[in-house]
Amino acid sequence: MRHFDVVVVGAGPSGGHCARQLAKSGKKVLLAEQHQTFAQNDFSSAATPIETLERYNLPSDVVGSLWQKIVIVTTNIHQSWECDEPLGAVLNFAKLREFLAQEVQRQGSEVWMGHRYIQSAQESGKTIVEFKPYGNSETVKVSTQVLVDATGQIRAVMCPPKQQHLLYLTGTGTEYLIEVGSSDYQKYAEKLTFLLGNKWRPKGYSWIFPMEPNLLRVGSIQWNRPHKIVEKTSSLRTYIELILKDYLQDIPYKVVNVHGGVFKYCSGLQDTYYRNNTIAIGDAVSTVNMLGGEGIRHGMQSAEIACRYIEGYLSGKQVDFSSYQQEMHQTYKKAWDWSERMGISKYLEYSDQFIDRGVTYLNQLSTDEILQFIFEYNFNPIYRRFLPYLRYKLSGKIHNLIGQVRSGFTNINILKGVD
Ligand SMILES: Cc1cc2nc3c(=O)[nH]c(=O)nc-3n(C[C@H](O)[C@H](O)[C@H](O)COP(=O)(O)OP(=O)(O)OC[C@H]3O[C@@H](n4cnc5c(N)ncnc54)[C@H](O)[C@@H]3O)c2cc1C
Repeated sequence: MRHFDVVVVGAGPSGGHCARQLAKSGKKVLLAEQHQTFAQNDFSSAATPIETLERYNLPSDVVGSLWQKIVIVTTNIHQSWECDEPLGAVLNFAKLREFLAQEVQRQGSEVWMGHRYIQSAQESGKTIVEFKPYGNSETVKVSTQVLVDATGQIRAVMCPPKQQHLLYLTGTGTEYLIEVGSSDYQKYAEKLTFLLGNKWRPKGYSWIFPMEPNLLRVGSIQWNRPHKIVEKTSSLRTYIELILKDYLQDIPYKVVNVHGGVFKYCSGLQDTYYRNNTIAIGDAVSTVNMLGGEGIRHGMQSAEIACRYIEGYLSGKQVDFSSYQQEMHQTYKKAWDWSERMGISKYLEYSDQFIDRGVTYLNQLSTDEILQFIFEYNFNPIYRRFLPYLRYKLSGKIHNLIGQVRSGFTNINILKGVD
């Protein structure tokens, strides 16, 4: 039986980056992925801020396009923010994961495509991991010192489906990759367009991202919970077709492919982060952010945090991964809890008028502040701007209340006959 220092299950951005980092530091790593190619599950829209490229040392050929403008459209409002410099990228998700896997191989470690994780067990002080190779009835077993669950929202290692009792907030996303003429492409190039509100996507949002010359990503996501006000919604495809017809104004297009995926976010980050020598990273521990559905760079960041603890464990400095869970909570919990609360209000509670009004107020934010809000989950600029307004509203309410109490007293006194 082959032995590895670390076996990483799942070659998404988190697993690929984790295996890449560990292989780079001289560990003998196996990265195993159930799909045979990265084109098979090319599900993510892969928009990210510009810092991601340098922070994770990503080459230009994983970049589909760059963007420097953000547009938010609601049922009645249209707002935009822009900059002269690129603010972010839309990555080619298949190429990104292929690049990470190649890096693992380049460092002398192994990548097994078409290998589905089946189970693992402890045997004489080692962990034995069993895979089912695609098209083969025989399973393959390897042994490892550390096992990493990087299987995304499936959580195949840490939390097999039958054991998933936690409170998950699930969402479903579908996206059309469409080919359009170059003059039509130019209208949507270099910008991320988000469409909110009842017309475009109740219980979620829709988007148009420039993928690469003449290719646009048009997608829609909905959270699978009842809305406080909206009773009935249509299928994801209905909203995408509406965008193609009404927002893109029936421009000629060809659908290149239709893909999608599921978000499964554990409310309050109560996922299992580790068990014995098994550790979970990325979407397997809800690093995807509930507010915008962005998860690539957060998954890669969790991989870097995990790598430090895995190195410590392999060298005997670390006896378990409890400090990993602590650091993950320190890194994400506060912002993720806020994002969850804000996401639930925005997608599952607010009326259309409230969303319109909210986006109108966002217009007071600078481009930098809107980026901080959308990508850094920094809500301070919003509170700073709206605090005077809230104070004004509150003082009006208090004034009314005092007036009502005073007139109540006057009425009582009149009834009592007191002057
Ligand atoms: C429609 C949609 C649009 C999105 N858009 C964006 C966006 O614009 N920007 C952004 O940053 N994020 C976006 N996300 C979120 C982002 O794609 C995820 O957060 C990110 O991919 C998580 O990375 P991961 O490596 O943790 O998991 P994943 O990318 O899900 O990777 C997990 C891997 O594990 C493999 N696997 C699962 N089970 C097994 C098994 N039993 N054996 C072997 N392999 C297995 C899977 O095949 C997969 O390759 C989007 C998600 C969806 C669904």
